[in-house]
Amino acid sequence: MTRVPFNDLARIHAPLRARILARFGEILDRSAFVLGPEVAEFEAAFTRFLGGKGTGLAVSNGLDALTVALRALGVGAGDEVVLPSNTFIATAFAVLHAGATPVFCDIAEGSPNLDPRSLERVLTSRTRAVIPVHLYGVPAPMRAIREIARSKKLFVVEDAAQAHGARTSSKEVCGTLGDAGCFSFYPGKNLGSLGEGGFVWFRDEAVAKRARAIRDVGQEEKGVHAYVGGNYRMHTLQAAALLEKLPHLEAWNEERTAIGARFEKEFSSLPGVHLLSRAHGGEHAVYHLFVLELPNQEVRDEFRLKLRERGIDTGIHYSGIVPLQECFEGKSEGEWKRAEERSGKIVSLPIFPGMTGIEQDAVIQAVKDFFDGR
Ligand SMILES: *Cc1c(COP(=O)(O)O)cnc(C)c1O
Repeated sequence: MTRVPFNDLARIHAPLRARILARFGEILDRSAFVLGPEVAEFEAAFTRFLGGKGTGLAVSNGLDALTVALRALGVGAGDEVVLPSNTFIATAFAVLHAGATPVFCDIAEGSPNLDPRSLERVLTSRTRAVIPVHLYGVPAPMRAIREIARSKKLFVVEDAAQAHGARTSSKEVCGTLGDAGCFSFYPGKNLGSLGEGGFVWFRDEAVAKRARAIRDVGQEEKGVHAYVGGNYRMHTLQAAALLEKLPHLEAWNEERTAIGARFEKEFSSLPGVHLLSRAHGGEHAVYHLFVLELPNQEVRDEFRLKLRERGIDTGIHYSGIVPLQECFEGKSEGEWKRAEERSGKIVSLPIFPGMTGIEQDAVIQAVKDFFDGR
């Protein structure tokens, strides 16, 4: 039996080990542990990766990237921010951390992302911003979202925490399509640090300048606190590791895309199964996750059990939608019928750079055997 883990980061780190440790040694000798020169170097490198325009800031993690983006744009108390109801919970917490109110909208049929018509229905006179999430690495419908945002004068803050390198059909890079774009470098993301990390891209230089101060206890120069800030700073060690990993991101994404294409080919005619990670209409998805929507929850739970028996790890992203989590009980507004219905039926298969052909075969065979046996 081939055991297939959900992810195995050691495989991509092993060849980089010596170079990362050499960089760590230099930082240990220099002692510039926070916002050291590697942080600025990484900011320049990742901004280039995103196409080179605008201004990028490295921050403490993805949740803080979203919080800094909203705060720098001036979104806060009394403002409503619309986000999809199926996302990682951090998207909603960032709105709360900025002092604003999260309002949830529903997802579109056949896509993991928000439904622009649902977005329109939940807008009020207090809506200030929308956070499209490029879930699983699939670009959100940005053309429609930007049109709505333009006509209603809303900020667009992209949550690209699962979409490093994803592109729209017109080859625009996710994370640079709105007023701000936010990334996470949590270890398991398409680009991960060796701990916590995040990044926020800004279109407007003046907003980026404010964000830079907010990141570092509100100071524009040492001891002068123009804003109420936070400690959203990146560690130099993380920037150094990210500098060694970034040159490989494109190749890792290509590996994910190739595995994703293979799975899609093999699974395209499974009865009652929808493939949620693929892009439509010439978009480029980066397969952070490979997610199947199965006919119902009973089948999903049985599916996970059967794969488990064959040594294959699976996940659920996410179990229970955000507005129905305990922490939002009685406090959330919006619409989320489709998201709620789908959350019981989704399952994520292993997909990661370094996944062997034998492991891919094992996943494909186990999935096919499950459906053949029904
Ligand atoms: C990972 C993630 C975040 C939060 O990033 P952290 O670095 O874990 O704080 C936010 N949104 C989405 C969609 C994510 O996947």
